Amino acid sequence: MLGELLANCYIIADDGSREAMVIDPSAGGEEILKVVGDNNLKVKYIINTHGHVDHIGANAKIKEATKAEVLIHKDDRDLLGSPAKNLAIFWGRMTKSPPADRLLKGEEIIPLGDLKIRVIHTPGHTRGSICLLVENRLFSGDTLLRNTIGRTDLPGASSRILVQSIRERLLPLGDGIRIYPGHEEETTIGQEKRNNPFLQE
Ligand SMILES: [Zn+2]
Ligand SMILES: [Zn+2]
Repeated sequence: MLGELLANCYIIADDGSREAMVIDPSAGGEEILKVVGDNNLKVKYIINTHGHVDHIGANAKIKEATKAEVLIHKDDRDLLGSPAKNLAIFWGRMTKSPPADRLLKGEEIIPLGDLKIRVIHTPGHTRGSICLLVENRLFSGDTLLRNTIGRTDLPGASSRILVQSIRERLLPLGDGIRIYPGHEEETTIGQEKRNNPFLQE
């Protein structure tokens, strides 16, 4: 069913404890649960980088199967339960997520076994967009993508605020940080500093 609603979903797991978190279960809940089962993972968290339908589509299925907590930034909480706000209706769908179990503000450190996941609030694509830093890897949702940035023609979006979020909160993390975006291919902070047309002066 994926088609235009497919975003990148990532599963982060701590080797020792097998604790895991699913970032943006867009769709394809069965496939995600197969990976979880095959690797004997305990999913503690479902984290949405923001509330758009292409990032939350399988929240309900993963939560039902794993009892994981749903985490999202407080400014995107209303998108979870509203097919109008999460844009599902534009694809003729009525997708909803269960409500958040925990609301994020930004700058939390979420422990996952021995891993530490840092939450970075990066408004602009939506008001409650976040990026997640795990060691030298940044999961950037629809904030920063390879050679582009997230759309800003949707409700709650601002291109000025989005570029400011990237400049102030992401670029200082350092050129070597690897970026795993919500769509398309991975990149690095250094590559985006050099090539991203939205970040050139
Ligand atoms: Zn989006
Ligand atoms: Zn997206």
